Amino acid sequence: HPDTYEVWVSEIMLQQTQVKTVIPYWERWMQTLPTVAVLAAAPEQRVLKLWEGLGYYTRVRNLQKAAQRIVAEHAGLFPRGFDGVLALPGVGRYTAGSITSIAFNAPAPILDGNVIRVLTRLFCIAENPRDRATNELLWRLAARLVVAASAHTSLITNHSSLLLSGPCSALNQSLMELGATVCTPLNPQCPQCPVRTHCAAHRTGRVGELPNLGARAATTRREFHAFVVEREEISRDATA
Ligand code: SF4
Repeated sequence: HPDTYEVWVSEIMLQQTQVKTVIPYWERWMQTLPTVAVLAAAPEQRVLKLWEGLGYYTRVRNLQKAAQRIVAEHAGLFPRGFDGVLALPGVGRYTAGSITSIAFNAPAPILDGNVIRVLTRLFCIAENPRDRATNELLWRLAARLVVAASAHTSLITNHSSLLLSGPCSALNQSLMELGATVCTPLNPQCPQCPVRTHCAAHRTGRVGELPNLGARAATTRREFHAFVVEREEISRDATA
């Protein structure tokens, strides 16, 4: 559903939280705060209450700050361009690409963990995607794909829901979904994969090696002990 406000709220909720956890929060949020203007004017405590349980509260504070800025600086209209969206509090490169491609069908790339896995396998990229140069290469590949998709409206005109959202939206959502459901970290479903004939890792038997995330940093075991000390009839409040 390409409603900008709905896409924006869902993308912010999904930044640190899984889809199945987000859905009931998102539905409650939309019933209570259905528009940017309502969010901008809502009492902070009411907004925080709706977020309770999702954690990472900076996200919700930034959401309301951004809504207030949209009302004050954009006459309540969500900015349409990538740079305008990127300038909002709490929106980074990935989220701006995701919002503008899904809501406006803009040819803006996205790159998260799922997309990194799909691209490193499709193009058989053996370098660590956390390295700056490799990460930039992956952003460029994601950009080339979405720009190429933007020229192919005719390929999906027989599918009404894709036609509604547009090819850039469809491409980016397909990459995310492929990584989440088929090209998974363990046991990817290559025989069922719709792009297996294009996949260099599948062709060369290197799927299990990719992405190459390097050695994991050694973990440190830490223990914490807490005590409540009480003496005779002195109350716990007094000792605290
Ligand atoms: Fe991923 Fe396998 Fe599909 Fe390649 S063929 S993109 S490794 S699921």
